Amino acid sequence: MSEIDHSLRPSSLNIIYSSKSSNIMKAGISNVRFKNWSETFECVPELFFAPKTEEEIAQILELARGENKKVRVVGRKHSPSDIACTDGFMMSLQNFNKLIEIDKKQMRVKVQAGMKLSELNDTLYSHNLALSM
Ligand SMILES: Cc1cc2nc3c(=O)[nH]c(=O)nc-3n(C[C@H](O)[C@H](O)[C@H](O)COP(=O)(O)OP(=O)(O)OC[C@H]3O[C@@H](n4cnc5c(N)ncnc54)[C@H](O)[C@@H]3O)c2cc1C
Repeated sequence: MSEIDHSLRPSSLNIIYSSKSSNIMKAGISNVRFKNWSETFECVPELFFAPKTEEEIAQILELARGENKKVRVVGRKHSPSDIACTDGFMMSLQNFNKLIEIDKKQMRVKVQAGMKLSELNDTLYSHNLALSM
């Protein structure tokens, strides 16, 4: 008896995979030119994504895995290097900017990974808190 080749997907799985991929692929924008804050580095990722849900993030990662692409997360583009640049998939977490929990007693806040510092400052201020310097 020959061994099962686990690298082969049953065709039904391929169909499920393709339909999910094509949905999220539509959300990807091509021809986006990324420039860092000081405009010293730039790149054009193959697709740029700004997911709104964790499910969308999972779909982008699944698509990247299937297409053998790397995913680079980008923040506010402030790095004075090309570290955020990619010719693969670029993903902004700009829509993940919510406060998750606040513990005034411990002076601790937990926020989503895409919150801007300016938004964090506003959020803290509204709770009579601030970043320590
Ligand atoms: C005017 C100016 C002043 C600065 N002052 C300081 C300073 O005082 N102290 C200091 O330490 N730095 C300083 N920096 C540098 C800057 O804070 C860092 O480069 C920081 O990483 C930039 O964050 P960003 O969100 O813009 O990241 P980006 O430049 O967008 O990305 C930088 C790296 O972080 C990764 N990344 C970004 N967001 C995420 C995420 N949500 N999840 C996972 N990975 C992510 C990217 O993939 C990339 O590798 C300054 C920069 C500028 C332009």
